[in-house]
Amino acid sequence: MPRPERLFKTQAIILRRYDYGEADRILTLLTPERGKLRAIAKGARKLTNRLSGHLELYSRVALVIAKGSDLHIISQAEQQEAFLPLHSDLLRSAYAHYIVELTDRFSEDEETHTPLFSLLNAALGWLCAPEADLALAARYFELRLLRLSGFEPSLFACAVGQEPLTARDQYFSASEGGVICPEHTHGRAVQPLSLTALKVLRHMARAEYDAVRHLRLTPALHAELERTLGGYLLHLLEHRLRSAEFVRELRARLL
Ligand SMILES: [Zn+2]
Repeated sequence: MPRPERLFKTQAIILRRYDYGEADRILTLLTPERGKLRAIAKGARKLTNRLSGHLELYSRVALVIAKGSDLHIISQAEQQEAFLPLHSDLLRSAYAHYIVELTDRFSEDEETHTPLFSLLNAALGWLCAPEADLALAARYFELRLLRLSGFEPSLFACAVGQEPLTARDQYFSASEGGVICPEHTHGRAVQPLSLTALKVLRHMARAEYDAVRHLRLTPALHAELERTLGGYLLHLLEHRLRSAEFVRELRARLL
């Protein structure tokens, strides 16, 4: 038995899991206080195991974990919220996979992520709602994730000139981090952003999800929003990956 001081209790959402060895599973978890953790659930694939059935993907669980030097060990697990529709509906499952993957990419190991945990927990619930517009829920999640990560796009002032944006069609630039007025686009990589799309983005940035979820958007507007936010997220992730790679290379050369 592990010594009591090595044990801690936490809530967690299961971001990823894969089979390991004969009957074990390795899980990537997001916790409120300790950020992202990797832990092993020994014997979890055996039906008779006390952990089995409590560690489904995307579910929220209460855990008792024994600290390990490399991998933590799950000693007790109790499922709190299964988010069942994410497992019975292929499209909901695909959206859940997407937001969980984004969460994984934007979170750090062993760092406090309480607001991110709450956001992900809420968003998994939005994706389960019977009448949910899944794309709208995903866009709302993206905007909130960007805010929590310090990358909220500029939606009210021009990202280049900082002047307030007027009510007309605009442009969006991932590298400048937001909306750009037509006068400041020269020589910059931009894509058009309609006034309607800008209004929806602003509404999403200011309002609670409950005030947003009933919006009825045309397929064209959905596509425009997805292109805009998706392009921005991709830009940030590529940039981040490149910088992480650079640090690794530099470290290897210095050692
Ligand atoms: Zn401008």
